[in-house]
Amino acid sequence: MISIERIRKDFPILGREVYGKPLVYLDNAATTQKPQCVIDAISEAYCNENANVHRGIHFLSQQATDMMEAAREKVRQFIGAGSTEEIIFTRGTTESMNLLASSFAAAFLKEGDEIIISGMEHHSNIVPWQIQAQRYGFKIRIIPVTDLGELDMDAFRALLNPKTKLVSITHVSNVLGTVNPVSGIIGLAHSHGIPVAVDGAQSVPHIKVNVQELGADFYAFSGHKIYGPTGIGVLYGRKELMEKMPPYQGGGEMIKRVTFEKTTYNELPYRFEAGTPDYVGSIALGTALDYVQEIGMEQIAAYEKELCAYALSLLGEIPGMRFIGNAPERSAVISFLVGNIHPSDMGTLLDRLGIAVRTGHHCAEPLMDRMGIPGTVRASFSFYNTKAEIDALKAGIERVRAMF
Ligand code: PLP
Repeated sequence: MISIERIRKDFPILGREVYGKPLVYLDNAATTQKPQCVIDAISEAYCNENANVHRGIHFLSQQATDMMEAAREKVRQFIGAGSTEEIIFTRGTTESMNLLASSFAAAFLKEGDEIIISGMEHHSNIVPWQIQAQRYGFKIRIIPVTDLGELDMDAFRALLNPKTKLVSITHVSNVLGTVNPVSGIIGLAHSHGIPVAVDGAQSVPHIKVNVQELGADFYAFSGHKIYGPTGIGVLYGRKELMEKMPPYQGGGEMIKRVTFEKTTYNELPYRFEAGTPDYVGSIALGTALDYVQEIGMEQIAAYEKELCAYALSLLGEIPGMRFIGNAPERSAVISFLVGNIHPSDMGTLLDRLGIAVRTGHHCAEPLMDRMGIPGTVRASFSFYNTKAEIDALKAGIERVRAMF
């Protein structure tokens, strides 16, 4: 059982006020707050261990390198990857997806090929593919989204064909909260010999993920959404595929030997990590992963599920409440509209009450078009949120409603 009172004390920012009111932070899908141990890990690394990694033979450089590589091992264990060679540090999910699109397309995609994404993708699993499609001439096919906010699996089956070279899909929708049946999607794609990439930005912080059990060929996530620092993220890629893919960026660290005539590339994972990496970010991400594991991913998932069910039932009592996304399998995200109140008016007024929610299209404009709406208000939860905060959200929404 999670002790929320104790956990909240680990997050200094949760004690602050905004506009003279206690902060109610319900924008966790955008970014999560940081526990003191993560803040300390960053400070400690700069105070005691700072030196460029993988290059120096001196003590500090060795120490910083060891700590970064220990963090890579923590990530490997956390997502159940087979080898640290398969763990690439990036700036976040967006860079992971750009790396993947750029290198995968260069290795495997040509005119006449197809890839499949879905109608509920974040722009970072749409635009990188569009950029590469312009370059290589492959087609992007889209799995439609049902009115409930689920993937249309019959349509997915019908899209698979001999031209399909990749399926790239979000594990959890950042707008609808839908948990997609990625295991089934991967099984189906693999039965046709098609690899699958998963955008795990909204899943890894909330549910236990094991990339090998899922069978994912690629899996991306962001450190800052799982209580780690900004500017660090991960791309897991199956070695067999990654070895066939060309580097994403050139520079230091990613090479074995450079001459003006010919350059040879470094081994995995360094081949995909050009330049000085955010080693402090990696180290602090490792601390964040230790932290959530201490609480327990199963406990986190169970508590957040309870919180989400409480919020759905409470907010559902508000007249004019319309949830966008009603999938039975869902994570800690609730999108809604109330009557004719514009989402940004709702967000602005809630903000004045100390309640931080996200409003707008949430970087998923095609999904907004599909749902026929310009945007939503989104409340997204973490294990440090309380039922009292959801009560405050309900009271806030009712207050805003009364003003219109
Ligand atoms: N994918 C999903 C589903 C997201 O929710 C987000 C961020 O909100 C991203 C990708 C992009 O993550 P980042 O901005 O950390 O690169």
